[in-house]
Amino acid sequence: MRLARRSRKAGELLKVKALLTGNWRGATAALITDGRHHMVVDSGMPHEAQLLITALDREGLKPEDIRGVINTHFHVDHVLNNSLFPRSLIYAPQESYDWCRSLYADLQNETGWEKLTLKYYPETGDYKQAAGLMAQLRKLALRWWDPRRLGDRSQYRWLETSPLPEGLEAIFTSGHVPGHASIVVRDGGPLTIIAGDTLLNREEDAQILTMIPHNRAQSIKDRARLLALGGRILPGHGEEFVAPAAPPDGGEESGERLKDP
Ligand SMILES: [Zn+2]
Repeated sequence: MRLARRSRKAGELLKVKALLTGNWRGATAALITDGRHHMVVDSGMPHEAQLLITALDREGLKPEDIRGVINTHFHVDHVLNNSLFPRSLIYAPQESYDWCRSLYADLQNETGWEKLTLKYYPETGDYKQAAGLMAQLRKLALRWWDPRRLGDRSQYRWLETSPLPEGLEAIFTSGHVPGHASIVVRDGGPLTIIAGDTLLNREEDAQILTMIPHNRAQSIKDRARLLALGGRILPGHGEEFVAPAAPPDGGEESGERLKDP
């Protein structure tokens, strides 16, 4: 699809706006637009479908105007309104798609789910709250998980092999779940990062209803890597903020141009 710099007038940049602002229990859904072509990053839970439609309507858009959906990963709170956009391409990490589908199938297993899910979350024993979170995740899976809401398989373009439209870049940040992708808007203007659950909130220790990281050591590195890029950051479960870029070693302050005008 076209969302390319070439198709925009000189000086026109991509606009990024939260459609659903993430909070402790709901995920951020964002709009990326060049004014003519529009994409949605993450689509929320089934009970948020009307909120998402209303937020698009406020931008003068209908679901059929959306040309592309991008999913950061396949936890229930990020993907279950993909089916609102049957005419879109869906850019998503295949590793996360396969991993989460397998996880949710195993969570629905009546008797063996606790044992089965240890292979997805091998660090469960390191966290006091992990067993409770897993039970919560199972409840969500039984109530909401519906692969039909992910959209049709023919709509998918895997981020591992298909590039995003020009100006957008996927960075793989796999500590939260394997294959997780954060989206960087790099169109010549200030950097905007749609972090997904790599950066749950501005505050590192905010209480968020999500699972423990698949790999804690990697998730700490992932968070630091995104923050070091600097720019406007839309966290997976919090309000956007601006982070100064890490200055290059001994170099001048590179975060300067990222300040709000
Ligand atoms: Zn998640």
